Amino acid sequence: MLNFTFQNSTRIHFGDDQIKAISKEIPLDAKVLVTYGGGSIKSNGVYDQVVAALSKHNWVEFSGIEPNPTYDQLIKALDVINEHDVDYILAVGGGSVVDGSKFIAAAAVFEGDDPWDILSKGASVTKALPLGAVLTLPATGSESNGGAVIMRDGSKLSFGSPLVRPTFAILDPAVSLSLSDRQISNGVVDAFVHIMEQYMTYSINAKVQDRFSEGLLLTLIEEGPKALKPETKDDLDVRGNIMWSATMALNGLIGAGVPHDWASHMIGHELTAAHGIDHARSLSIVLPAVMKVLREDKRSKLLQYAERIWNITVADEDEKIDQAIAKTEAFFKAMEVPTTLTDVGITAGDIDNLIEKLEKHGMVVLGERKNITLEVSRKILETAL
Ligand code: NAP
Ligand code: FE
Repeated sequence: MLNFTFQNSTRIHFGDDQIKAISKEIPLDAKVLVTYGGGSIKSNGVYDQVVAALSKHNWVEFSGIEPNPTYDQLIKALDVINEHDVDYILAVGGGSVVDGSKFIAAAAVFEGDDPWDILSKGASVTKALPLGAVLTLPATGSESNGGAVIMRDGSKLSFGSPLVRPTFAILDPAVSLSLSDRQISNGVVDAFVHIMEQYMTYSINAKVQDRFSEGLLLTLIEEGPKALKPETKDDLDVRGNIMWSATMALNGLIGAGVPHDWASHMIGHELTAAHGIDHARSLSIVLPAVMKVLREDKRSKLLQYAERIWNITVADEDEKIDQAIAKTEAFFKAMEVPTTLTDVGITAGDIDNLIEKLEKHGMVVLGERKNITLEVSRKILETAL
């Protein structure tokens, strides 16, 4: 196992009717900015629950945070913060609202010249407003990690700091019942790929992390399709297992002391930025191709995955790996997400531009061995066609 320091300080309130816990989590003397997206929280009753929980608090709001939140929109929140002396942020939404609110929390008290430097130059975040989250879409794990991804001018840029890790997060599975099938699928697939990015690398005998990861993968494979079937989709146990898996997938626990890949995410970000592909759908296209192209580097883990996740017992190792990759693709298809670039109308002629974007964004050596050069990324995209 590699050395690691692990701390996850986000207090989780999980379950039915937990939104009311906000009232005790946020100090009564705070001036709160409630941030949200395009209004789904107004039609599914979450907004009303938040308003009720904040009945004794002094608060204002900022809405319109887009899926794949943009710098240009987020920066407008600073005017509201300054005007009302806001000193606490409550994000109510999916990964985009939580990520966007992390940027707002850091930008509002940024000590450098221009908060854009946080994203463009990796300027360090030395202060941030405290942040709480009411999660409405289980997917990203953003509700209890310190990372965020923000768009500007066709580029997806990320930053991270423990200072923007939410102080608390509310996970009420019932809130996810209003999600469309597309967003449910996206959430399950994003969480699945988060686990794979930390698991499907090379073996270092980190048995605890491997088995946590395998438990989460098995849960998503079992519960994900149920959330799409009319008979089981409203089952709160199904929703709860998905929600908790997605949080656990990217809260630092399974990633402590193990190599990380993240090539699927970095290549996937370019598909989102250049072609508007949903985040999770970029991953369901790229991950199978990463598994195929990097199969020798990931060989021992692919074999373990084949046996422990898919119960593949065939003796021939290459056949075992082929079957495991095919099972992964079949799972994505069962979750109704695309598995090839062709599925989403991207052609061989688009690959040069994607490679240029990877280069522009410094994504020139990716993967757990830092051996996914631009040439290897090109091969991955060609394999994904
Ligand atoms: P999202 O972009 O936050 O939300 C997608 C859509 O779902 C929005 O239109 C949203 O509507 C709607 N929605 C959310 N909750 C709903 C509900 N309960 N009922 C009905 N509709 C609902 O989706 P996401 O997948 O959670 O976040 C994706 C973003 O997170 C990407 O930018 C990705 O790069 C980033 N990400 C971050 C991390 C991290 O660790 N920080 C990890 C992976 C990905 P509203 O606009 O009305 O809210
Ligand atoms: Fe993701």
